[in-house]
Amino acid sequence: MAASRIDILIDRLRSSVERSSLILEAAERQAYSCDGLTSHRAVPKLVIVPASREELIASVRAVIDVDLPWVARGAGTGLSGGALPDEEGVLVVTSRLKAILEVDPISRIAVVEPGVVNLELSKAVLPHGLYFAPDPSSQIACSIGGNVAENSGGAHCFKYGFTTHHVLALELLLPTGELLWLGSEGMDGPGPDLRGVVIGSEGTLGIVTRVVCRLLPLPEARRTFLAYFDSVAAAAEAVSDVVSRGITPAAIEMMDHLAIAACEIATGAGLDTTAQSCLLLELDGEADEVAQEFLSVRALMDLHGSSHVWEAANEEERALMWLARKAAFAAAGRVAPAYIVQDGVVPRSALPRVLEGIGRLGVESGLSILNVFHAGDGNLHPLVTYDPSIEGQEALAEEVAAKILTLCLEEGGSLTGEHGIGVDKVCHMPEMFTADDLTTFERLRGAFDPSGMCNRGKLLPTPRLCGERPGRYQPHPLEEAGLGERW
Ligand SMILES: Cc1cc2nc3c(=O)[nH]c(=O)nc-3n(C[C@H](O)[C@H](O)[C@H](O)COP(=O)(O)OP(=O)(O)OC[C@H]3O[C@@H](n4cnc5c(N)ncnc54)[C@H](O)[C@@H]3O)c2cc1C
Repeated sequence: MAASRIDILIDRLRSSVERSSLILEAAERQAYSCDGLTSHRAVPKLVIVPASREELIASVRAVIDVDLPWVARGAGTGLSGGALPDEEGVLVVTSRLKAILEVDPISRIAVVEPGVVNLELSKAVLPHGLYFAPDPSSQIACSIGGNVAENSGGAHCFKYGFTTHHVLALELLLPTGELLWLGSEGMDGPGPDLRGVVIGSEGTLGIVTRVVCRLLPLPEARRTFLAYFDSVAAAAEAVSDVVSRGITPAAIEMMDHLAIAACEIATGAGLDTTAQSCLLLELDGEADEVAQEFLSVRALMDLHGSSHVWEAANEEERALMWLARKAAFAAAGRVAPAYIVQDGVVPRSALPRVLEGIGRLGVESGLSILNVFHAGDGNLHPLVTYDPSIEGQEALAEEVAAKILTLCLEEGGSLTGEHGIGVDKVCHMPEMFTADDLTTFERLRGAFDPSGMCNRGKLLPTPRLCGERPGRYQPHPLEEAGLGERW
């Protein structure tokens, strides 16, 4: 009997990579069957965990040679199923590629391998008074390669931008096996911004093998405080007002009553669980400027009816406030057996309306929905809780989560702020993009990956296979030209 392509690949890799780089046992492969979106699972035929960049490049090229589908994985914290394995193919995991190859404090850049954990980079450059600004709440675990693929954001992206604003260049191994550098260490390289195309492409255009990160100096001063409100709407209006007055806090995060309670149970940080909502605000910059902004923001909180404010008296209290906020997703697991995290975005001015709509969906469905989100960016993270042991409740939660996305789109928002499309929202893409948009995306993808073997089935809908949800009707050009009609 002819050897299968996977057997040929394993044979070839056995002679070219370390034994420990290959995970062959079914039980061990099972451990990689999902990312943070645990509702989708698939066991890959082979898991490769390369020990070096050279091994990574050699093994991906070997996978390409035998024409098997493959998926890149960093730390597996993604929430949209982007690192869900292909059950016909190979999962390539970067978790051993954790070297910080170079730190240049004068040019304020660091060159890192893709498996470097986000927070570890900031820790490593702290002695130089520098840090890496993108700070997803998962930053103690997620990898820089994953951040690049998802164009990850975080609490401080309101002021400092997303991963794309902090990655100057990257090395990419294409699905054709070619290796190239995109971007430059300068502010603006020649030619089209292909670096920007790769950032946020969710592992569909190749695997990132090295990243040049921009580092920022630590701010001279910071003030962090919680402002409590008697309603979600009042907090949302306070956010819009702060921003419309030209003040740019480093972070404006919001939690509603249920989220405050869950975070307090999980962390004991001392949050006021009687409040209906709270804003976590952080101001940073030069000391005088921060002092002035603090007075302005504090006055705006009062104007919008904030019942009271807790300002962090020291670094320990600041850390406690952030611990409570960043623990929110895990905390939700303590108050409900299961939940779906949504990631829609709306214009800030629409926040009060959309939050009211989410509240209504919660009441109508009978499901508890916790809201904890990056209010400054209008990036919502409603956690739709449900009990999988109750028949039909998971489907109901999915329906409610989908309706929340529709609400966001109706307000001129977006399907995702930072978690990506992955497999989770792939069928919703036609709700936001026209057929022409999607065809253009497909052409772009095809230019990087002509064989379509890299993270297939993710990000772009596959007509007829995924039960995609149609968007608003777009007339065909023939129809517009009066040469055909719809029937
Ligand atoms: C508790 C929690 C909180 C979170 N908070 C935030 C948040 O505040 N902001 C935010 O943006 N996200 C957040 N996330 C989502 C997630 O942490 C980010 O998307 C993160 O960037 C994923 O990194 P990862 O290393 O875990 O990637 P993975 O989950 O392993 O992969 C994610 C995607 O990246 C691709 N990929 C991974 N490595 C590479 C590579 N080297 N080259 C090419 N493609 C690659 C994969 O194919 C996949 O499509 C959170 C997740 C959790 C669990």
